[in-house]
Amino acid sequence: MRAARFYTSGDIRVETVEPSPVRDTDVRIEIAACGICGSDLIEYQQGPEHTPIEPNSRTGASIPVPLGHECSGTITEVGADVDRISVGDRVTVNPNIPCRECRYCEDGQYNVCPNVVAVGFQLGEGGFAESAVVPATQVHRLPDGVSLEAGALVEPFAVGLHAVRRSGLQAGDTVAVFGCGPIGLTAVQAAATAGAKQVLVSEPNDTRRNTARNFGADSCIDPTEEDAVEAIRDATDGGVDVAFEFAGVEPTFNAAVNCTRRGGTVTVGSMSRGEVSTDLNDIVTAERTVVGTYCYGFPPQASRTEFDAVIGSLEAEEIDVNAYITGRIGLDEITASGFERLLEPETDHVKIVVEPT
Ligand SMILES: [Zn+2]
Ligand SMILES: [Zn+2]
Repeated sequence: MRAARFYTSGDIRVETVEPSPVRDTDVRIEIAACGICGSDLIEYQQGPEHTPIEPNSRTGASIPVPLGHECSGTITEVGADVDRISVGDRVTVNPNIPCRECRYCEDGQYNVCPNVVAVGFQLGEGGFAESAVVPATQVHRLPDGVSLEAGALVEPFAVGLHAVRRSGLQAGDTVAVFGCGPIGLTAVQAAATAGAKQVLVSEPNDTRRNTARNFGADSCIDPTEEDAVEAIRDATDGGVDVAFEFAGVEPTFNAAVNCTRRGGTVTVGSMSRGEVSTDLNDIVTAERTVVGTYCYGFPPQASRTEFDAVIGSLEAEEIDVNAYITGRIGLDEITASGFERLLEPETDHVKIVVEPT
């Protein structure tokens, strides 16, 4: 089969490789669609960071490995012990595989498991390939009304849903979202769906501001044109109840803190690329709460996970799939038309989806 394998920064090669065997508890998926994520871009720019240089202690995998963790497809083979999934099922993949042995896994806090391995990073299998072999526990069946392409969006929208749950947002609250890249947009959608009274966004890119409106933003601020903190405070009687930070740089973190009302919550979901300095008095004396949010609830075989909630939203057509997917490319174009396009500073893209088969 053909796979786009990551060797090192700036070096992804589309090659023919031997498909992995399906063990008793695995399934093989013919990949229909796989989104390129911000974490893939970071790996491409400055990796190997998450892809293992030495064989991973749980999986034995090491570079070169295919990236790609936002994927969907059709089951073509199931292991001898798999009975919950059948050949022909259309599925999306929860990429994060917890160890199920550490103190956090024992408590069901799978998304903070320190030993987690992910499809598209440490597993040695990824969605930028014609097929991938993953544990059967990691796949969710898609209902008839959800296309395979939409199925590739479940993972990023689960991140936004989890962020909103972590924030403690209540129906009727006011919300600000800093940064409307692919994940910030999912938080806008989840906040609007959760009943936010007013969703304000701060985002310098014109196209992304417009897309944010499609996902439920009531007003969009260009922080290069006006002071976002002032504009948000003016519009919300001194500050929002909940702010989300998805830009990962010092000015946006501090703006998120300062546009939140006294006693409000700042939820941080960005991966920062450096240290951020802040005035602790803005957190302490105003009794603001700062919360981290990472990925989503993990146990994929449970019936009430965030993945299933997003699949339900897609089935109910609450998510504008066509506004979110801004590019569709084949495996051979992954570097020039995928990674390199998304890294252009002025890119208008939100999500480019690779369709390997
Ligand atoms: Zn991702
Ligand atoms: Zn664990």
